[in-house]
Amino acid sequence: MFLRKDTRPVKVGNLTIGGSNEVIIQSMCTTKTADVEATVAEILRLEEAGCQLVRVTVNNKEAAEAIKEIKKRIHIPLVADIHFNYQLALKAIENGIDKVRINPGNIGSRDKVEAVVKACKERGIPIRIGVNAGSLESHLLEKYGYPTPEAMVESALFHINILEELDFHDIIVSLKASDVPMAIEAYRKAAEVIPYPLHLGITESGTLFSGTIKSSAGIGALLSMGIGSTLRISLSADPVEEIKVARELLKTFGLISNAATLVSCPTCGRLDIDLFSIANEVEEYISKLKVPIKVSVLGCAVNGPGEAREADIGIAGGRGEGLLFRYGEMIRKVPEAEMVVELKKEIDSIVKVYEET
Ligand code: SF4
Repeated sequence: MFLRKDTRPVKVGNLTIGGSNEVIIQSMCTTKTADVEATVAEILRLEEAGCQLVRVTVNNKEAAEAIKEIKKRIHIPLVADIHFNYQLALKAIENGIDKVRINPGNIGSRDKVEAVVKACKERGIPIRIGVNAGSLESHLLEKYGYPTPEAMVESALFHINILEELDFHDIIVSLKASDVPMAIEAYRKAAEVIPYPLHLGITESGTLFSGTIKSSAGIGALLSMGIGSTLRISLSADPVEEIKVARELLKTFGLISNAATLVSCPTCGRLDIDLFSIANEVEEYISKLKVPIKVSVLGCAVNGPGEAREADIGIAGGRGEGLLFRYGEMIRKVPEAEMVVELKKEIDSIVKVYEET
């Protein structure tokens, strides 16, 4: 487990972000928020995949109104993404939103900021300040010439200062950039001076393939430094894919306690079974499990039995058959055609043990 840098814990609905808590996975809906049916359906799919917090855009009155109904039908906290319009923020708060993403420095006059902060305080709702390298304040662009990590941190401190002056401290901060080294540096510098939880993200990172790599490189580097209390993988893809990537990334760093892990080999000339199909089918099967089991699918007897013994359940291929291992013990041989079925049966029985204990 990579230790997390200590931050102030911030409550969001029934979750606590920061402090010594696990890193929270979040995503954002792609639907029109006012389309309640479509938005709820997407959120329920995200929940099933393991999403713990979900954001919707609140860009008009209809979207702010829809929050009330959406909240009744979902099971995870809901975040309103708002740009500039303090009245939409007030409406979202009134309708039961759990967190608001808005930059106080962009709201306008002091009385508007005060109105939003007062409403958040009364209901215990936190505010996320979202700094984006692509939309830095003009005074910072004038000072630095172009977006830099230093300018991003200064922007975050500018917005934080406005909230702190109003004695508001339930703050979460993101410093997103699509340039990965810039984002890493901005978050690293921010972690040194900002006591609030950091929401990690590489913005506009691209498609499922390129975005997964860019996000994993950037967010992975930060997680390994102990930085980050919540994260969103931004992909030009079904948001459920964002959750799958986030869970896999957290597994890599031992930062998630309720996800199953697959170990599988790249195969080589020693292979005598159709390992790619077996590994893909098993990966799909375990992707929704909420228990920390390890499953290994190895192609042959060279590394197979060793790896399989390390896993809760594993298979090592042979010529048209495989050796099935459970908790390090070889339990039986199974023909290739039955490998997936037999593995699933064993996985189910291990999951049952977890669920009963
Ligand atoms: Fe090759 Fe066997 Fe290693 Fe897989 S486990 S890569 S088949 S030697």
